[in-house]
Amino acid sequence: METRRLPADQAGIIKAAQALKAGQVVGVPTETVYGLGADALNPRAVAAIFEAKGRPADNPLIVHVLGKAQAQALAALTPLAISLMDAFWPGPLTLVAPRLPVVPDIVTAGLPTVALRAPSHPAMRALLLESGLAIAAPSANRSGAPSPTAPEHVLADLSGLIPLVLDGGPCEVGLESTVVDATGALPLVLRPGAVTPEMIAAVAGDCLVAPSAMRPLKEGEAALSPGLRHRHYAPKAPLTLVKGPPDRVAAHIRRLCAQEEGACVLVLEERLPAYQGLSTFSLGQDLGQAAHRLFALLRQADEAGCKRILAEALPEEGLGLALMNRLARAADFDIQSV
Ligand code: AMP
Ligand code: MG
Repeated sequence: METRRLPADQAGIIKAAQALKAGQVVGVPTETVYGLGADALNPRAVAAIFEAKGRPADNPLIVHVLGKAQAQALAALTPLAISLMDAFWPGPLTLVAPRLPVVPDIVTAGLPTVALRAPSHPAMRALLLESGLAIAAPSANRSGAPSPTAPEHVLADLSGLIPLVLDGGPCEVGLESTVVDATGALPLVLRPGAVTPEMIAAVAGDCLVAPSAMRPLKEGEAALSPGLRHRHYAPKAPLTLVKGPPDRVAAHIRRLCAQEEGACVLVLEERLPAYQGLSTFSLGQDLGQAAHRLFALLRQADEAGCKRILAEALPEEGLGLALMNRLARAADFDIQSV
């Protein structure tokens, strides 16, 4: 199959809507990462997503909708879910709510709940409107690889496996949405993202973060969010995270670089002077830029032939929590404290 890349203009959106209505999968831009979309209520179309990605069947998908009205047709919304939608939709927040029977089992991996999000990207909104569908879409990468934040990444992973990618340019946020369980009285963050626990607490009064969001699952522990069971976001080169006071972190990373040929360093711009003479990738000026660049840089490091990536740990506050969640999984929890 040849994969077509179409600009996300009116003509492209009409073509993509037709493909979705015909049961095909389409690469779609969103403000978080590129998604691999299909008609959420068509089980055969959804099966094609799992097939193209090589995604384990026990990892449920996020269903994209225009807003609250469409969400209400798919799930039983709690007052908490509604207040979070009112505060953060459209935007990078996914809400987990009890599903209604119309939602096929394959979408939720058999769970009694469904994950819902209203994206803010204009092309994705136009596609939802034009197709009239709810669009199930996980990230448009091969399962386990860094998420795609540009159309080139989708093509690198899925060229020949899907008919069409809508090109909406690079993704603004660069990290997947915050996933929040809104089935109870208090919000519980299952996967951190750009909508931070601090922002959610400001609306809901409080916000819990699932412990498994920031550490590996224990033997036999049930995953609240099944996606956390799987190795994720990983470049081909092994990644090591180093945590501690800046001077000691830099000394440790420099030592590791001296021991291993082809190592490269991934740090914020302001930390580059500590790594002069080494091969470096800059995460940018702040955590927002780091989120925007992270997945693209992991892919670039592989393309540059990097044999090991050494990254400084980031502060686990605000957007830093989401960045560290992704980095820790990309490192398969190889986190060295110094
Ligand atoms: P992706 O779309 O690839 O970014 O992955 C979607 C994320 O949402 C995964 O981590 C899933 O485990 C999570 N998710 C989807 N549906 C549910 C659900 N019903 N309950 C809990 N987590 C979910
Ligand atoms: Mg994903």
